[in-house]
Amino acid sequence: MNNLTGLIVKAISGFYYIEAADTLYECKARGVFRKKGITPSVGDRAEITVISEEEKTASLDQILPRKNTLIRPPLANLDRLFIVSSLSEPSPSTLIIDKITAVAVEKNIEPIVVLTKSDLADPSELLEIYRRAGITAMSYSIHSPGDKDRLVSLLKGKVSAFTGNTGVGKSSLLNSLFPELEIETAEISRKLGRGRHTTRHSELYKVGGGYVADTPGFSTVDIERYEVIMKDELAFCFPEFRDYLGECQFSTCSHTCEKGCAVINAVKEGIIPESRHNSYKAMYDEVKDIPEWEMKKRGKNGSGTI
Ligand code: ZN
Repeated sequence: MNNLTGLIVKAISGFYYIEAADTLYECKARGVFRKKGITPSVGDRAEITVISEEEKTASLDQILPRKNTLIRPPLANLDRLFIVSSLSEPSPSTLIIDKITAVAVEKNIEPIVVLTKSDLADPSELLEIYRRAGITAMSYSIHSPGDKDRLVSLLKGKVSAFTGNTGVGKSSLLNSLFPELEIETAEISRKLGRGRHTTRHSELYKVGGGYVADTPGFSTVDIERYEVIMKDELAFCFPEFRDYLGECQFSTCSHTCEKGCAVINAVKEGIIPESRHNSYKAMYDEVKDIPEWEMKKRGKNGSGTI
């Protein structure tokens, strides 16, 4: 019996495809996972026992501890989340970008903001906002080889995923980066009338010295709907607020409107970007009345996973 540790790169109808020792093994999960309520996920590190080297089959014995999970699309151990937003047509929403960056930060995923269509609008104002927020941001034009090189360099040695809404150029960005993958675009699926019926599954592809998740239809709406940050954790998900937390006049400060709030003072001084604080306030308002048990019911801590 040969025991190996590998990476789940694909999951389809009860079968898991696990890359271990440069070989792709087809694995069936043992019943023990169902009993424990664990659903192995793409991105999981797993221990397997090889059944047949010839047929490349193995049994999936154990899932190793996870760094993080996304509920939809189901992905584990993501290192970087690229948030694709267009500078024009449609114009960017800092609220959506900030919601996604906050969820990423909470899950210990590095958010990277990618601003497409830089030929249609000036990216400098948004780039400055995210620079001040301590979040990596870059503009991206499919016509610029320099942009492509920079983005690919961010994939090396990492497991990454791309999220973005219809029309922001996510599909053309992915196809310009990885033409070999022929990633099916949300736009094309819809034209063919297959969009609604497409089974959502994630798959990891080895590209640029790392792995990229192909997550059809992975829109920011999925994150907004399934990943909620509790109000007490929210301020910590805005990296540029951290230096000021604990410095407010009141220890119960919500950093939304209080007198003597160090965060608000930093906004007034122009250190914290105003749009970021506005997003924080909007997000705080959305969750402030949700009781903790309700948050748990909404899958706050994962989707019945480990
Ligand atoms: Zn405060």
